[in-house]
Amino acid sequence: MQKTIAREITFKGIGLHSGVETVLTLKPAEVDSGINFTRSDIAKSLPIKALYSNVVDTRNCTCLGDKAGNIVSTIEHLMAALSIMEIDNVLVEVSSPEMPIMDGSAAMFLQKLQEVGVVEQSAPRKYLKVLKRVEFRDDKGNSISLEPSDKFAIHFTIDFPSPIVGHQEFSAPINKEIFAHEIAPCRTFCEKSQIDYLRSIGLIKGGSLDNAVVLDGDKILNEGGFKVANECVNHKVLDAIGDMYTSGFPILGKLTADKTGHYHNNQLLKVLFADNTQYEII
Ligand SMILES: [Zn+2]
Repeated sequence: MQKTIAREITFKGIGLHSGVETVLTLKPAEVDSGINFTRSDIAKSLPIKALYSNVVDTRNCTCLGDKAGNIVSTIEHLMAALSIMEIDNVLVEVSSPEMPIMDGSAAMFLQKLQEVGVVEQSAPRKYLKVLKRVEFRDDKGNSISLEPSDKFAIHFTIDFPSPIVGHQEFSAPINKEIFAHEIAPCRTFCEKSQIDYLRSIGLIKGGSLDNAVVLDGDKILNEGGFKVANECVNHKVLDAIGDMYTSGFPILGKLTADKTGHYHNNQLLKVLFADNTQYEII
């Protein structure tokens, strides 16, 4: 059956890029309404459905937007937590254009959702079953694909110049167990050398070692080091789970990604939905 949250949940935090203090409220929602984001700081903000077709920017995060130009950015970590909790319907109110980054991972979202719990609703859940292999490849040859599988599984590969990261791979079916222990705690990351550039273009105003892993050559600047082995690739898996949920459905298929990000995730869903013989909704 479809599910929503058992009661309202509130989070407070700052936006990674904006640095703006933001209140996030999740409210139970009706059957078949889906996951919708709305701006509580804008009087006439209409809900924006968390669908790949409403994604307006994928450069540093996944950002939803409507025709009036209202946006909600960095939805992916919450989306991943909603996906693994099998929540189909929820209204997400955000008091600024950017979701709070929390600790850079999905751990706090998952923890609160688990505490509050979910309720079953009166209609059956629908799934997106991948029927044919679909792929998106960028002009550098980095590619992402979905192929038929009974379960949602991910094989992700990254190759990072930073020697402390280097080549990392993740390959496993995505279930609650693996998500809670190996994926949800994984924080967003960047190279120390990127920080000045990102600041110069007005980004990461809210960034700190409290909400991002900072890599410097063969060192990690965060006290305590990585939280999980292969934290970097696993964070990419977290992003991919969140982005794949903008299909509007839980996916039955295997995702294979090689050095890809939000842009590729979004393009892959566009390729998938462009031909309705490639999938079925069951
Ligand atoms: Zn992320």
